[in-house]
Amino acid sequence: MTKPKYISVNGELVPYDEATVHLLSPAVKYGALVFEGLRAYWNSDNEELYVFRLAEHLERFHRTLRAMRFDVRYTDEALTDTVVGLLRANEVRDDVHLRIAAYVEGDGLYDSTGPIGLMCAAYGRRSGTLETKLTRAGVVSWRRIDDASMPPRLKVAANYHNARLGALEAHGHGYDEPIFLTAQGRVAEGAGSCLMLVRDGQLLTPSVTEGILESVTRRTLLGMASELGIEVVERAVDRTELYFCDEAFFCGTGVEILPVVEIDGQPLGAGSGTDDSDRVGEITRQLWTRYHDCVRGVSDENAEWRTAVYEGER
Ligand code: PMP
Repeated sequence: MTKPKYISVNGELVPYDEATVHLLSPAVKYGALVFEGLRAYWNSDNEELYVFRLAEHLERFHRTLRAMRFDVRYTDEALTDTVVGLLRANEVRDDVHLRIAAYVEGDGLYDSTGPIGLMCAAYGRRSGTLETKLTRAGVVSWRRIDDASMPPRLKVAANYHNARLGALEAHGHGYDEPIFLTAQGRVAEGAGSCLMLVRDGQLLTPSVTEGILESVTRRTLLGMASELGIEVVERAVDRTELYFCDEAFFCGTGVEILPVVEIDGQPLGAGSGTDDSDRVGEITRQLWTRYHDCVRGVSDENAEWRTAVYEGER
């Protein structure tokens, strides 16, 4: 990660090394931190930087803040100004990943609801081609956290210990990414991404009550698939369906689309080609092209999803 010049802290631009938080804050002690991960894409033809689906990320941010009883309310306008102001101040002209986080400061316990700090940071992260993202996935023994105890629907830092345990187990077994099952043994999602399967031309993914984060990318891709005439099914998914599918991919803001070529050591239908380009399934590739053109503003479709960073400055 290249160090950005500035990080936004409570609305002020602060040099990277000065953006700190106290070791005894509930944010550090208990992971009392609500966040969003976003991306902005540079379009060199338009000389413009586009933040993708900012409104939808902010909606999830507000909802999680409310559910976690953080004693703070931000307006979309203030948060948009923070994001755009930070990108402009850092003179970003490349693809970046953005992080917006609200965290409990002070020296309270796990039930303290404030004071709340707000930070926003952006750092370089380019998207690779599908061929560089071929992924071997494995089901891990750790189960996905559950709405009854540690709701995966809430984007809270502490939830990611589940991701950590699963990712470490998967890597230990030689896989790139873990697949988590729910406590009931059904397919949930990856460590930081949702999972989609393609079977007999149908796009199949666990529904939002199956231990997943309500992912912005998932929603985007399901909509795009429908528009492309692909049948979309959201329902509970059994583990054995992982072995019956022709294609599979993880999706999320950070990973974008990760084509899965193998699950639990078994090549998928589309993953068994000898050439890397043959190992990406047709529907995965179709969705990637559509997604990629949309996020970067190569196509005019869904212009309302892109927040142009430099537009007002010219
Ligand atoms: N699931 C988990 C657990 C995640 O951390 C993420 C990344 N935020 C996703 C799914 C994908 O969500 P989104 O498409 O909103 O980035």
